[in-house]
Amino acid sequence: MCGIVAYVGHKEAYPIIIKGLKRLEYRGYDSSGVSIGDEDNISLLKQKGKVSDLEDYAIDKNTKGSIGIGHTRWATHGIPNQINSHPHNSGDGKLSLIHNGIIENYDSLKQVLIEKGHIFKSDTDTEVLVHLIEEIKNHEQVGLFEAVRLALNEVVGAYAIVVMEKGVNNEFIAARKGSPLVIGIGDGEYFVASDASPFIEYTKNVVYLEEGEIVKIHKDKMLEIISLTNSTKTPYIQELELTLESIEREGFDSFMLKEIFEQPKSVIDTLRGRISPKTKKITLGGILDYEQKIMNANRIIIVACGTSWHAGLIGEYLFEDLARISVEVEYASEFRYRNPIINEKDVVLAISQSGETADSLAALELAKEKGATLLGICNVVGSSIPRLTHAGSYTHAGPEIGVASTKAFSTQIIVLTLMAVKMAHKKGSITMSKYHEIINELELIPEKIEKILKKNDEIEKIAAKFKDATNFLYLGRGYNFPVALEGALKLKEISYIHAEGYPAAEMKHGPIALIDDEMPIVVIATKKGNYDKVVSNIQEVKARGGRLIAIVTEGDKTVKELADDCIEIPSCLEQLTPLLTNIPLQLLSYHIALMRGCNVDMPRNLAKSVTVE
Ligand code: GLU
Repeated sequence: MCGIVAYVGHKEAYPIIIKGLKRLEYRGYDSSGVSIGDEDNISLLKQKGKVSDLEDYAIDKNTKGSIGIGHTRWATHGIPNQINSHPHNSGDGKLSLIHNGIIENYDSLKQVLIEKGHIFKSDTDTEVLVHLIEEIKNHEQVGLFEAVRLALNEVVGAYAIVVMEKGVNNEFIAARKGSPLVIGIGDGEYFVASDASPFIEYTKNVVYLEEGEIVKIHKDKMLEIISLTNSTKTPYIQELELTLESIEREGFDSFMLKEIFEQPKSVIDTLRGRISPKTKKITLGGILDYEQKIMNANRIIIVACGTSWHAGLIGEYLFEDLARISVEVEYASEFRYRNPIINEKDVVLAISQSGETADSLAALELAKEKGATLLGICNVVGSSIPRLTHAGSYTHAGPEIGVASTKAFSTQIIVLTLMAVKMAHKKGSITMSKYHEIINELELIPEKIEKILKKNDEIEKIAAKFKDATNFLYLGRGYNFPVALEGALKLKEISYIHAEGYPAAEMKHGPIALIDDEMPIVVIATKKGNYDKVVSNIQEVKARGGRLIAIVTEGDKTVKELADDCIEIPSCLEQLTPLLTNIPLQLLSYHIALMRGCNVDMPRNLAKSVTVE
């Protein structure tokens, strides 16, 4: 999520780090900071906002020194402000640390450290880690390298970190698990960063740190790498042949494609720390105090716009089907202007990637006046919706740069599923075996998405066949009706082809008139949930000569015989199929748009965060 840059060598560290951070700003952008070491001092400089705000702030401060660590933050714990930005220092100020990721068990570690007398300044999980390292270093009387290793053995979560020590100006320690980190090897100097873009002009020789590795980086020595269990590792040095641009997109042609392919990881990040590995209990920290309120709500009113509104519709199916709580899904823009009936027993839930969507904010304001309980599901920590609502859960999907939402949609569905299953469990509206079945399936979703992504070439070929169509119809039923809507939206917003989504059975009430032998119809026809009924709808399309693209469950025979093209997805519990069926539709839109010469990352007339009504 965030960007990390560190330097140790013979040059001035500050300008190298600032330039590097600017290149990583696409990874996170809410605040930034540096720690620069010189003689017996570490200057810690942090600022809310962009890296240029940090530069302005640092203009009259001491930035001298040839060792330093820098960070551009994308908040997960604690709002984006100066105190919460990185680096974070230990209590005695001797250690300074930057971190990318989430420390899942930070709360329990923090309690233990507080009992030992540690005082915390920020709300971050990261500050806990640097205090833990300090505690172990002092208590066990070990060096920083060993202290970091011991501390990381107590940590559950994902991290890429760099830690430096006051007065030690020739080396620092870095480590990774679940977040990327690459080391650039220069002549008497080393660079560390989240990707190679910050140091590409200085060196092409790199070592990619592997999962669970910790490295001591001394400017004049070879890298010393150990594992969490203290076995020695040999660094594998490789030569980069990449351009700056391709590194930022991690080799993908666009941010949209990168974000589509990131979904297995984003789903893991959304689930991280929320399902107990042992008991399988769901914990959504952000709504803990409001669970009773949600459970006893008269109804949940979901307000959202665009793709988030489609996720909301899936939420409606989930909450009603599993938790037996009545749900209404509203376009925020309509809701706010139609004098809706809301009271204190209602829960109003806003879904928004950016957390800044103007209409959703206004809908919440209105619901607040009427005394409803306000909830949010957002991606950007500390944005306006999380600040306005009583409670909520973040999606933790990482920054989404492509204007067309992809990973935000999947992760919103994950949060909605966790909320609905949590409520269902509390209310006893699902059996324990159903509960475990859903949790098991949820945990399998990332690998199933991975499997679908492998069909990218196959989907590209299908896209080539249909790229010149002028209209598309998307059909689905039940849980996959909202996916049909989302599929159509994705296609029209990035390829500018007119597309409509419909509940499959509604087709007979109008859209069927459009079908001729030119018209592609995308049908979601997975095995569970209304399969036979969808097959009948497919027959109706076929009888009118429509060209059929079907999303089917692996091993399907019936639909395969009828459809022109089929894309198989792994078998899955009905309630979770949207997480899978949505993926081929994203890829189909992506390829069609690309083949038509459209800019998929910045479709015409659109903006990423719609802050006007
Ligand atoms: N969890 C850390 C925080 O909220 C790091 C977030 C990041 O990766 O930028 O400060």
